[in-house]
Amino acid sequence: METTLTIRLTMWNEGRHEKNDAPVAKIYPDGMDGALAAGFGDRDFSIERRTIDDPEQGLTQELLDRTDVLTWWGHVAHDEVKDEYIDRVQQRVLEGMGLVVLHSGHHSKMFRRMVGTNANLSWRELPEGDLERVWTILPNHPIADGVPPFFEIPASEMYGEPFDIPAPDEIVFLSWYKGGEVFRSGLTFYRGLGRIFYFSPGHETFPIYHQPMVQHVIGNGIEWAMQPHKPQRKLENWHRKEPIHR
Ligand code: ZN
Repeated sequence: METTLTIRLTMWNEGRHEKNDAPVAKIYPDGMDGALAAGFGDRDFSIERRTIDDPEQGLTQELLDRTDVLTWWGHVAHDEVKDEYIDRVQQRVLEGMGLVVLHSGHHSKMFRRMVGTNANLSWRELPEGDLERVWTILPNHPIADGVPPFFEIPASEMYGEPFDIPAPDEIVFLSWYKGGEVFRSGLTFYRGLGRIFYFSPGHETFPIYHQPMVQHVIGNGIEWAMQPHKPQRKLENWHRKEPIHR
């Protein structure tokens, strides 16, 4: 018998560009998270949305404790996020909460904490954008379900290699740009009991999060990051006084 579980999804969206930059507000009148949420169709998500300007920066322990998967979009206010809240999110990921980090979230305290490097990369922002071709290079991965061999983003911010991260556990998507660069654009990391998906397309001045295939990939990433099981035990330091074989 097939059972479906409603995924309790918290979308953490910094929210500053939508508030302070008129061109961004025009593209995303309901926020970048709102655009994504509108594209999740009939997926079984129960969505709560938070910004950095909410109480406790939108990251209360109570909310995190009942969150199955957290999405993270940040850019201009990375440094404002308090370390104590980063600690909270990190611990929840290690306990099994899924984390989906989007676009410039690569430079967030959150992502850098989870991967352990500066996560620097090369980038270029043209007014007209760069054509990005996203290649599916791990087609049997759940995140690639229903995704064609490649799809294109007509106007994107170029994110290129070298991307200063430890080797990811899986590379699901690899992007090529008209300018000649390449980038590991869809990555998974396993940390503790948690699953992390990073997906790079999503610059605020382009309508990328209105694009159905982008919404589809991120929706798949959320479903994949949700743990299909309850943890049997925590990954604690486990003092085993007696050997099993005596
Ligand atoms: Zn950007």
